[in-house]
Amino acid sequence: MECLNNHGKLEKILFCDVEVDYCPTCLGVWFEQDELRFAKDKKDEQLNWLDVDLWRDKGKFKIAKTRRVCPACRMPLYEVNYDDSKVKIDLCNLCKGIWLDRGEFKQIIIYLKTKSDYEILHNYNKNFRQELWEIFTGPEKFREELIDFLTLLKLFNYKFVVQHPFLTSLIENMQK
Ligand SMILES: [Zn+2]
Ligand SMILES: [Zn+2]
Repeated sequence: MECLNNHGKLEKILFCDVEVDYCPTCLGVWFEQDELRFAKDKKDEQLNWLDVDLWRDKGKFKIAKTRRVCPACRMPLYEVNYDDSKVKIDLCNLCKGIWLDRGEFKQIIIYLKTKSDYEILHNYNKNFRQELWEIFTGPEKFREELIDFLTLLKLFNYKFVVQHPFLTSLIENMQK
């Protein structure tokens, strides 16, 4: 698979048994639906109490067409926007993969901080820090943000992915 910003091939990175494709140049990240599902299947009972505003309210989603194409199936990507958050994600309506630019990643973290949900997630993930660092194989500048990244991965599993059927219906209505 190729970087959406034309930097050539994406590389594999392993976070907590979840394989993610990323661009070593711009640090954009591609999440495949299967990878997300795999993470979700793992028992994580503590996450039951997790209550974060991001992506909760269906009425706050906005969708727009982009010129970008999915690195996996070459279909056009749709930009998904949430509320006043400036959080944007590129979604493939066919394989349900998600592309996150570096800036988009940061915007999500900023949004979580303003909503004070970040503290909860950050503290939750802190326990994994040591364990993670031992198995982490990616570049150093990624490693510094490992905890934030993992926080985001959890959010995708528990908040964003459940909205897929709804997002699909939005996209289909757009095409009529
Ligand atoms: Zn790139
Ligand atoms: Zn796709």
